[in-house]
Amino acid sequence: MHEMAITESILSIVLAEAEKRDATRVKTVKIEVGELTNIVGDCVQFYFELMSKDTLASGAEVEIEEVPLQARCPSCGSVKKIENLDFLCECGGVMKIIAGKELAISAIEIE
Ligand SMILES: [Zn+2]
Repeated sequence: MHEMAITESILSIVLAEAEKRDATRVKTVKIEVGELTNIVGDCVQFYFELMSKDTLASGAEVEIEEVPLQARCPSCGSVKKIENLDFLCECGGVMKIIAGKELAISAIEIE
């Protein structure tokens, strides 16, 4: 499962960071998930809860921030939200993705 492996690596990053900073507990983890990653935020939350048991991150709140797929046209510079994977600009140019591919921890709150 996609989300399971991803959650595992997120958790290990979070725990490494918490240990480095001598935390007693991880309070919140914020994760940016791009639309193009096809990752289901609810699944990540679920697995995180499951996998973080008996770790510093047990009981941590997982906040998923969904980043919509956006692209910019290199010819006219217009930016739009991409729907139905339609990358054609009104001017005829082919738009390039500028957001929506991210999968990153944007913030970790510890105690
Ligand atoms: Zn254009």
